[in-house]
Amino acid sequence: MDAQATYMYQNPNDQGPRTPRRPDTGGNGSSNNNSGGNGSSILFRVIVIAVVVIIGFYLFRMFTSDNGMVSSDTIEVPYSTFYQQIKSGNVESVTFQGQDATGQFKNAITVNQKTSNKFHFMTLPDGDPTLIKLLQQYHVTYQAKPVPDNNLLYILLNLAPWILVIGVFFLIMRRATQSQQNIFSFGKSRAKLILEDRPSTTFGDVAGVDEAKNDLVEVVEYLKTPQKFQRLGGLIPRGVLLVGPPGTGKTLLARAVAGEAGVPFFSMSGSEFVEVLVGVGASRVRDLFEQAKKASPSIIFIDEIDAVGRQRGSSINSNDEREQTLNQLLVEMDGFDARQAVVVLAATNRPDGLDKALLRPGRFDRRVTVDRPDWNGRLSILKIHTRTVPLAKDVDLLAIARSTPGMVGADLANLVNEAALLAARRNLDYVTQNCFLESLDKIQIGAERPLILSDEDLNVIAYHEGGHALTGLLTEYVDPVTKVTIVPRGQALGVTQYTPLDDRYNYAQDYLEAQLVTALGGRAAEQVAIGHITTGAENDLQRVTAIARQMVTKWGMSDRLGTISFSEREDPFAGTALASNSREYSEKTATLIDEEVNRIVKRAYERAVNLLTEHRVTLDRIAQALRTNEVIDAKQLREIMIETGAIEAAPASYR
Ligand code: ADP
Ligand code: ZN
Repeated sequence: MDAQATYMYQNPNDQGPRTPRRPDTGGNGSSNNNSGGNGSSILFRVIVIAVVVIIGFYLFRMFTSDNGMVSSDTIEVPYSTFYQQIKSGNVESVTFQGQDATGQFKNAITVNQKTSNKFHFMTLPDGDPTLIKLLQQYHVTYQAKPVPDNNLLYILLNLAPWILVIGVFFLIMRRATQSQQNIFSFGKSRAKLILEDRPSTTFGDVAGVDEAKNDLVEVVEYLKTPQKFQRLGGLIPRGVLLVGPPGTGKTLLARAVAGEAGVPFFSMSGSEFVEVLVGVGASRVRDLFEQAKKASPSIIFIDEIDAVGRQRGSSINSNDEREQTLNQLLVEMDGFDARQAVVVLAATNRPDGLDKALLRPGRFDRRVTVDRPDWNGRLSILKIHTRTVPLAKDVDLLAIARSTPGMVGADLANLVNEAALLAARRNLDYVTQNCFLESLDKIQIGAERPLILSDEDLNVIAYHEGGHALTGLLTEYVDPVTKVTIVPRGQALGVTQYTPLDDRYNYAQDYLEAQLVTALGGRAAEQVAIGHITTGAENDLQRVTAIARQMVTKWGMSDRLGTISFSEREDPFAGTALASNSREYSEKTATLIDEEVNRIVKRAYERAVNLLTEHRVTLDRIAQALRTNEVIDAKQLREIMIETGAIEAAPASYR
């Protein structure tokens, strides 16, 4: 499920009132940002107004005459022309104002095709000492006006662009320092936001993951009464890894643990840690742990821990930031002292790629699997999410649960939500079964992976897993089958679990051959019961080939090749066997090896087919049971074996 969906369909209980834990520390630091914002916005407004005024003024100046003295019917005359006009007695009056001079001719003259008796000219820069005399001589009325007293304004206007530039510069500087401050207070402020979270979620809000819940009860107990655990010197749970596909309720479980224990919940997502700036991730980890320790007993939840916890140095462009964050996380995990009751829960759906250091004792040394729910679990989840939804009488939650194998809690929450929306859109008073079915169709079409497998697919999977299980039960030297399921797990559509009796260091040939038979049992069952084989056995076949190949080349278990080791040298870079050129044996031997591998696999496959054909009734019963229950355990398997008489054919150790 993507974050959006997860968020939308969050259990309403999750959003319950969150009492601020430490209002005294929670409030400070945030006001700074606010006032800074106001200050800069006032500055910003002032600058905008200044720009408008200045532009307005320049526009005004463009369209109005110079100083208001020169109107449109004034002609511009050269000084010499003016001089001539005086001498010819045509000048009536003249007014001097600074360098400008305007006046009137007695008779209009034409200059540059413009005729007027009003004129304007510029006086000579250094003045003309003879001019006054001349004016007096020809009886021209003259006067001098003071230069208008807008000097200051002029200066201001000339400076304005500079003031503007400097203002903008300051504004940018201020913004920059502010965001700088934000950067430095980032980790802190985030953790502060989280400080207030005290979930009201309980285990009652989580369904279909009973095993995980059972595993976490101890954590709740510990957080409730840490002293009791510490006094008895019991092993204190420190880090718990929640492993499971997205949307199965890992976050919900973590919140429920906090809710059940009544302790504050501090959470962050691994992808947040590896954000933008170097050093921030590590400091955030530090702050997060600091806050949690202060509030102890408490819970830290790290979602998507694989984003930080991927194996160090596993990629060429190793991410320093991520490694720093990871290192800090390790330091913090080790840095708890015994009195600090802080449990760190982390979620991932890819536990394999995690750095080994994270999984060491004292760190995430416990693993809780959060699997996809079986139909029973799906029913309980549907019940939880329909608690607040008015359901019509015809709604059959059981039928919905049974028809949605593969769907996880988030999918089901989504389904209920969609159905309720649909009912609302249709102005119904109750959500009907039809609303559910239509929403289911809609969700399936929109989903990238087929959420729900077809009946046909489920049948194939049931027989396939049944085949693994039954061949396992009927073959000697096989680890006991403990659980068979057709609820998808990770990439696999079904799983058959075996529990090894002891750690085996020496693989007897019989044991290896039995492994081949059970591994091929899946595909053999498809052939026996359905008549054609599917692509579902890809993984099985890879395993089979690998075992058979090693039997021939490494362990000398082939009659034709004898007890010689044809070990292929390891490729130091890729960790895989090198191509043919590095083999220590000839092409002919290679062909022989292939033939031997084929022979061993074929023999095992035939054995599997024969077993399953002979016990077809039992196979059918197991497949049937898988279809109805989705999960069957060792006990149920035994019952079927007894009822169908197949127990007689099982190895003595099983009987
Ligand atoms: P994850 O952390 O495993 O990706 P979430 O805990 O975020 O999954 O689940 C998202 C939402 O889906 C939850 O808030 C809840 O509404 C619903 N949900 C998921 N799993 C369950 C469950 N086992 N029981 C009830 N609701 C569930
Ligand atoms: Zn298989």
